[in-house]
Amino acid sequence: MEAWRRALDGPVSVAPVAKAGPVHIATLKTFDPPPAALEGRRFRGAERRGKRLLFPTDDGELVLVVHLMTAGRLKALAAGAKGPKQPAFALEFTDGSKLVLTEAGKRKRAGVWLLTPAAAEAELAHLGPEALGIGVAQLGEICRRESRRLHALLRDQRLIAGIGRAWANEILHAAKLSPYALSADLSNEEVERLAAAIDSELARGLELREQGASDEQTYRVHRRLGEPCHVCGTPIAQVDFEEHTIFYCPACQTPGRVLKDRRLSRLLR
Ligand SMILES: [Zn+2]
Repeated sequence: MEAWRRALDGPVSVAPVAKAGPVHIATLKTFDPPPAALEGRRFRGAERRGKRLLFPTDDGELVLVVHLMTAGRLKALAAGAKGPKQPAFALEFTDGSKLVLTEAGKRKRAGVWLLTPAAAEAELAHLGPEALGIGVAQLGEICRRESRRLHALLRDQRLIAGIGRAWANEILHAAKLSPYALSADLSNEEVERLAAAIDSELARGLELREQGASDEQTYRVHRRLGEPCHVCGTPIAQVDFEEHTIFYCPACQTPGRVLKDRRLSRLLR
């Protein structure tokens, strides 16, 4: 997300908005003010809060909030550049450039909100502290307070903002911790390892994204079932947990133990 923010910060603030829309009915999450309220206003730039991108107008009146979920992509197109036929959301600027949101697949999960700064603040108030640079003290406090399985804790945006399921896999592998370990059971040394892994993995991801790396080139554990662990060579394993599939190295992370499925459907029975 930080890579997206950096890439869009310049392009969105070059010229005022000439035309807002079209927008897919499932993508637009707010109705008042309407997207047309952006027309004639200029964005101050791109900001980020956790996994959400924020585009405040420079008059301080409105904030466009975008959440890409997993399949959404947000692109700045130069004037005259060919865009997608049916974007989920599009803005055209007075210089002819565009900001275009696309989403692969049928299910529209990415969202666009147009809010006042006060409403945006209220909307974002439930987010936990930023993952990157969270530090040992703050992470240790969250781990002890919550007592959750580590994979679920890392993904919970109310506790820590900015980590999705793929990076939870990468981070736990780098920290050599089991995805099923209970956060409250971690030793101080393990919390330190986890904090260091959050920073090193997110920094690695950011650097690769900025170089234009694909998911394939970025993830070393996520979706690597059966491939050798890049540290020890053991085949990467997977396990279903709640509604997610977790990838892990049974040698590096769970001292040889194979984790059992804990699907949500099974847990609810
Ligand atoms: Zn390994």
